[in-house]
Amino acid sequence: MPQKVRDIMKYRKISLVFLFLAISLSFINSFVGNRWMTIIGISFFAIFLFMTFTLWKCPICKTRLPLKFDKDKDLNDIYRCPYCDTKFIDGEIIE
Ligand SMILES: [Zn+2]
Repeated sequence: MPQKVRDIMKYRKISLVFLFLAISLSFINSFVGNRWMTIIGISFFAIFLFMTFTLWKCPICKTRLPLKFDKDKDLNDIYRCPYCDTKFIDGEIIE
């Protein structure tokens, strides 16, 4: 019976969407120079930081997980905590 934990991968994916939106907005805005786009871009980046610092933690050992984006690990549905070696997928601990 797999143990249920908080589905941190879901939060991670949502926060990364905000990060990519913020990056694309600031890229487009470097040509357009719109003040509102700057504000929205900064807000998206703030949401990313907020979600990362509050929710991107191992559900078992409670250690904050690395901020560095690793596409092999982050986009994989199975995440292994680098600190306690717990593997989890979709809010369930496996093995
Ligand atoms: Zn851990």
